[in-house]
Amino acid sequence: MVSVSEMEQMSDFSKYWIEGYLKGNEPEPPTDSNEDVDFESAEYKTWIEEVKLFNETGYWSSFDRNCEKCGKALLKSEPEDICEECRK
Ligand SMILES: [Zn+2]
Repeated sequence: MVSVSEMEQMSDFSKYWIEGYLKGNEPEPPTDSNEDVDFESAEYKTWIEEVKLFNETGYWSSFDRNCEKCGKALLKSEPEDICEECRK
C-alpha cells in the first residue's frame, strides 16, 4: 500500500493513482463514449478534487454519499459525513 506521504511526493499523482494503489477496484477518471478522458468536464474536475483530497485524507469511500446536513454530494475522499461548508 502506498502511504499518504509517498503520494505527496509525486508530481503526477493522478497517473500513479490509476496504475498503483487503487488499480482495478476504484473508479478511474471519468471518460466519454470513446473512453477518452475529457479534461474539461465537470466530472473530471470533481475527480481531480477527490484525488487531491485523498492525498490529504488517505480516505476513499466506495459509496456515493451526500452531506447529512445540506444534502450536497460528498467527495469520495471526504472522511466526514458532512461537507466542508457545513463544518465551518
Ligand atoms: Zn453540507
